[in-house]
Amino acid sequence: MKKFSVLAVDGGAGTGKSTLSNLISNRNNFLYVETGFHYRAITFMFLRKALSPNDVEHYLTKYPLVIKSNINKNKSEIEIDDIKFNYDDLRSTKVNENVSHFAAIPILRKSLFEYQRSQVDKAQSLGFSGVILEGRDIGTKILPDADLKIFLHADAETRVRRRINDGETDSIKRRDELDLNRKSAPLACADDAMKINTAQYSAEEVYNLVMNALNSRL
Ligand code: C5P
Repeated sequence: MKKFSVLAVDGGAGTGKSTLSNLISNRNNFLYVETGFHYRAITFMFLRKALSPNDVEHYLTKYPLVIKSNINKNKSEIEIDDIKFNYDDLRSTKVNENVSHFAAIPILRKSLFEYQRSQVDKAQSLGFSGVILEGRDIGTKILPDADLKIFLHADAETRVRRRINDGETDSIKRRDELDLNRKSAPLACADDAMKINTAQYSAEEVYNLVMNALNSRL
């Protein structure tokens, strides 16, 4: 494997992106950047301020976000305007219901673009062996030159079952519809991505498929 690897993982809700990303980052000293949390954090912030998606453009033009990252073991955690976020808040039903509406707003996506791309240099400068960014538009927009692009998918029944097992209320079908059909950086499979149906494999098998592909490309 070459010295530093850049991996892009995309797919709809419940397709196994975070399971795969956790396995890869933990076992190979990669920095893991879960970009869904960036959209969740901004959604949580706006909901707390009782602002709606219609207010976002005005707000962000007036108050640009100050974004920092905290490295917690091998995860990059976002901090916005000095607010740190906790996992349970960001995965709440309210955030699940609202996040795709906020994530569709171009100025909001624009305010995360440089920050997300900067995580590659950050991982390299901190001595990680690679970086894995996971989301909806990583292979198509954020890291078009990634060493390997993965697109995960699975049937709806499998994905709903995974969410129930996680103890979450999450209308993944509705979120995917919104994410697929928005104009700005929709959920999409890059032309050069490796597609994996995660309903057909165990997490370990998906991990092996991806690591074999990564090793053979580098
Ligand atoms: O990955 P996760 O399900 O936590 O993402 C939450 C939401 O954030 C998605 O449904 C989508 O609306 C938005 N998102 C996005 N682009 C990304 C990652 C997430 O629009 N790269």
